[in-house]
Parts: sequence; structure tokens; C-alpha cells
Amino acid sequence: MLLNQYKFIDLTHTLSPNIPTWTGSCGFHLEIKRDYDQMFRVQQIKMHASAGTHIDAPSHLIPEGKSIADIPIEHLISPACIVDVSKKADSDYEVLPEDLTLYEREFGKIEARSFVILATGWHRFFSNPEKYRNLDKEGKMHFPALSKDAAKILCGRDVSGIGIDTLSPDCSDMDYRVHRLLLGAGKYIIENIADTSAMPPKGGFVIALPLKGSASTEAPVRIIGLIPKHSLG
Ligand SMILES: [Zn+2]
Repeated sequence: MLLNQYKFIDLTHTLSPNIPTWTGSCGFHLEIKRDYDQMFRVQQIKMHASAGTHIDAPSHLIPEGKSIADIPIEHLISPACIVDVSKKADSDYEVLPEDLTLYEREFGKIEARSFVILATGWHRFFSNPEKYRNLDKEGKMHFPALSKDAAKILCGRDVSGIGIDTLSPDCSDMDYRVHRLLLGAGKYIIENIADTSAMPPKGGFVIALPLKGSASTEAPVRIIGLIPKHSLG
């Protein structure tokens, strides 16, 4: 069995009312519309499309860009490259071209159609929304992000998309330059990825399946890592 060759790992945060969100408002609420006394418990989900681990489609920013439902499924099942900068990433760190050079020197070139995850270690604060959003006195958030030059390199590698374990690859004072570059190039972005430390830097895969709304620009996603068992030793 092909699937026996892989260990599966959930790279998705669990949704709850208390998760950190971009605006700080409640990110996820389940309303009970009917209960067991009427046989079934029926719930209505109230959430921001961008709550928790979620995907931004190109149409999030580009009016004529692909919506969630337009992203080919082949682009959502990808070889995974995990660029781990967690040892040096402080709250103002930007992943630099040098980080990609170091990665490629050790693990080989980032191939087209890969999904590149920037593992900054910030996921560990997800259960502490105040720390995860990390507002300064001016109301700006601080968490590790991606530099414009490194984003350009990743576009040049023709990746399917990029992911990060923070609220965004752009910090709140960055003019959304990374979003503009990546979504403008038809790539997608997955934000609030959970702990990827069990994933190999290269050789694993991810399956990232969003809720499929026809005109959706963002959607919650369940992202699963596949680790080849032979790489586990
Ligand atoms: Zn975004």
C-alpha cells in the first residue's frame, strides 16, 4: 500500500472562539440552531474566512485572479520544502534570500510546483493570541515575515504557493508587498500553519484542502503533511 509508506501529520490549528485573528475579533463561533432534544445537534458556523489555518487565493487581491474553487487540485497536493529559520527568527525577522540560498545549498533547488513553508517557530504562540499578534504601542503587529526579495525568488522558482506559521508573510507595516507579489503571480498563500518541526526539510508532501466556495477569496484549510517513513530512520 502506497499510503503505508507515509506518516501523516496535521499542520492545521484547531479552530475555537479564542484563536488569534488579524483584527483581534472572534475568529470562530459555533451556534447551536437545534439540539439533541430534537434529535440532531445542528450548528451554524460563524467565522472570518481568514480565521485559523487558511488559504488566500489570488483573487483575495487580484480581481481577475483565481478564486479558491479555481485553484487546480494538483497545486494543492505538493512536494513540501520546509525552510526553517526558527533559530534566528525574532518578532521582526524577515526571511531573506540568504535563507533560501542556505536551504538550496543543503537540500537542492526548490523545484517548480513545490509548496514552501517558512517555519519561523511563531506557531508556538498560537494559543496565546496577545503574544501571537504582538501589538506595539502604535497598534502594529510584529511577527516573523517574508522579505520582498525572498518572495521574488520564490516566484522565480514557480512554487505553487507559500505557507507561514504566523498571521501573514507581511507584517502589518509592510504594505502587503509579499501578498501583492505572490498573489499577483498567481500563487496562493497559507497562513497560520501549525508546527512543522516533524516534517523533513525536503522529501515530504502536503495536501492542503480548502472549503470550496465558488467566489471565495480566502478559505479555511485542512493541511496535512506526508512524511516518507524511510526518512524517519
Ligand atoms: Zn493573507
